[in-house]
Amino acid sequence: MATKSIPPMPIEEVNSSIARVFRELDWKDARETLIKLGEQSAEFLRAHIELEHTIPSPSKALDCRRQMWYKAHGTKSDRALPESWILAAMTGILTETIWNTVLTFADPRLVPSPLNTLDLGYGVGTPDGEFRNLEGAPLVEMKRRTGWPFQYVVEGGVYKEQENAYAQAQDYMRAAKRKWCLMLFSVADHSFYQNIMRKFKRQPGKQFPFFYVEWVEFNRVYSQKVTDRQYGTVELVAADDPPAREYGINNKLLEPLNGEWPCQTPDQTGGCPFIEKCLKQGP
Ligand code: SF4
Repeated sequence: MATKSIPPMPIEEVNSSIARVFRELDWKDARETLIKLGEQSAEFLRAHIELEHTIPSPSKALDCRRQMWYKAHGTKSDRALPESWILAAMTGILTETIWNTVLTFADPRLVPSPLNTLDLGYGVGTPDGEFRNLEGAPLVEMKRRTGWPFQYVVEGGVYKEQENAYAQAQDYMRAAKRKWCLMLFSVADHSFYQNIMRKFKRQPGKQFPFFYVEWVEFNRVYSQKVTDRQYGTVELVAADDPPAREYGINNKLLEPLNGEWPCQTPDQTGGCPFIEKCLKQGP
């Protein structure tokens, strides 16, 4: 009989120790910490931003590969990036440095250490950190999501609701030879999210979470599928012509026909930036 894997630290303990930091951390101390963080952040941010542009990116392994081809070939997008996304992306990167501090205060076992860039074979990637004080030095990945995607991951878990993040964690664990990765999600605007959820779920007094943690265990079979797909992407992206559609940005690695077509509507606020070219190209 297969034995059940035991995570390196009970998830309830991870959760409660993080919650305690926010309860107990004096805002005056936190401001001092933020100043120190600002001083130390330049190197971290530079490395992070340089890695943003690799194609295929480890964090977008399951995205539509025709879209990746357009990006890799410097294709002019059909619309400007929504301006609010730029602020969201900038804030998202900064959030990681703040979470590093929170984890450091949370528990000696959760003090994150930086990791060198990993050779993923088809490209490179840098996990957000590792916990050297926990057995097996598990990895940590931090993600920031807006209201509904955050709510879905709280309800359904990382694999079901954030498969790109799950695939990225698998890819990193394979390259770093680790068995576990802690996924830490935070919500972009908690007050707005909570307000909407209280109404939608008809739970006016409920305190909705502002972060979510889950241990993801290494899965050799799944990881191999991610690696195979990434090598396949390298070939497709190098070709002269765009590959076939993959039915949208909700594409699933294991169920490729499960995505949505047409991909999100090509309006001013979202959707694939190449939808017009894709329509012209055909399936
Ligand atoms: S419109 Fe959809 S199928 Fe076409 S490139 Fe964009 S994401 Fe892919």
